[in-house]
Amino acid sequence: MRTTTYLVKAAKVLGGEPTDLLIKGGVIAAIGSNLDAAGAEVINAEGLIVLPGLVDLHTHLREPGREDAETVDTGTQAAALGGFTAVHAMANTDPVADTAGVVEQVWRLGREAGHCDVFSVGAVTVGLAGEHLAELGAMADSAARVRIFSDDGKCVSDAVLMRRALEYVKAFDGVVAQHAQEPRLTEDAQMNESELSGRLGLRGWPSVAEEAIVARDCLLAAHVDSRLHVCHVSTAGSVEIVRWAKSKGWNVTAEVCPHHLLLTDELAATYNPIYKVNPPLRSASDAAALRQGLADGTIDAVATDHAPHPHEDKDCEWQAAAFGMLGLETALSIVQQTMVDTGLLDWAGVADRMSYAPALIGRLSGHGQPVEEGAPANIVLYDPAHTRVVDARDTASLSRNNPYEGRELPGKVVATFLRGKPTVLDGKLT
Ligand SMILES: [Zn+2]
Repeated sequence: MRTTTYLVKAAKVLGGEPTDLLIKGGVIAAIGSNLDAAGAEVINAEGLIVLPGLVDLHTHLREPGREDAETVDTGTQAAALGGFTAVHAMANTDPVADTAGVVEQVWRLGREAGHCDVFSVGAVTVGLAGEHLAELGAMADSAARVRIFSDDGKCVSDAVLMRRALEYVKAFDGVVAQHAQEPRLTEDAQMNESELSGRLGLRGWPSVAEEAIVARDCLLAAHVDSRLHVCHVSTAGSVEIVRWAKSKGWNVTAEVCPHHLLLTDELAATYNPIYKVNPPLRSASDAAALRQGLADGTIDAVATDHAPHPHEDKDCEWQAAAFGMLGLETALSIVQQTMVDTGLLDWAGVADRMSYAPALIGRLSGHGQPVEEGAPANIVLYDPAHTRVVDARDTASLSRNNPYEGRELPGKVVATFLRGKPTVLDGKLT
């Protein structure tokens, strides 16, 4: 198949002055005014912003095992529609991605689907059971080249195992991504611990359950001189601890989810399990601290924690419902609303937090690169002036657990290019 050449007219790279981009042979062949190219497909991009293809550190694709909730194919379609060109698939599948065989299977399914590059996250412990280290080296050496290891969904709560994992991943420049949740402090926890959780009669999930693990792991990472990544930071105290660890020069990075930037624990008063998520929605002052931490770089990256669930797992009583929300198709809009429209971050900052930084944490090559001549053409064309009311049925995901249903959100992904090939054009999958 002949690859098409695309001439993108009058687009604003990272929100700058309008310019033309020539996309040819999988790379950005030229950037400049009044570019011309015979036979090129012309895209009028007036008013559109060009960003580097987004990279997600935290996606649940559910395959293998829960193909009723999501598959690699449908999840990466949702990713492309959200402007992503690379996602990291979390390891809590069935079977768990704790061997070279499973991580290669997921990676290969991603390549076959072709909507966006899929990088497998490997489990830290066998079966996520928190007892024995998984074959980290074999996963790192596999075709999937795993660099991020996580028991996400569960916390590596045993300090000795966590230390050994941190020591082990140094051999291949890997990173341990911790889901920070002290298990004893969160037994049967349902929502943020506050005066409201008492009033609603839902078991509280104290901030300290997250912060105690974040602090411990920062100290462990410093002790063995290794690389720690903190998943979905949700409290003001965690931001403070990460800020302190960075001030020491320790190798600690952190991510925040769009829903924790926008939504707060008051939504639990609806008893609608669409708002049930792990870690839970926190207070308005936590959300403000997360925004501030993302703005000043204490929090390195935005990660979706896209967590599809079929309706029978969400459409029930709060206590019985599964934790998790969809996120890939709305992430950029939420970041625009909470960070850009508020003046906390400019588009260059968005490019950093949603592309450069996550690609660097995952040690990806070919992703997270500046939009410049010669770079791989992994880019997004985004219309920040567009507004839409979210309809949960309007999705590529197999699931519908969208917490923004009915909300008006800014922005629209108009096109996504993966190595010069459009995966999304005119806001639709190609
Ligand atoms: Zn998690």
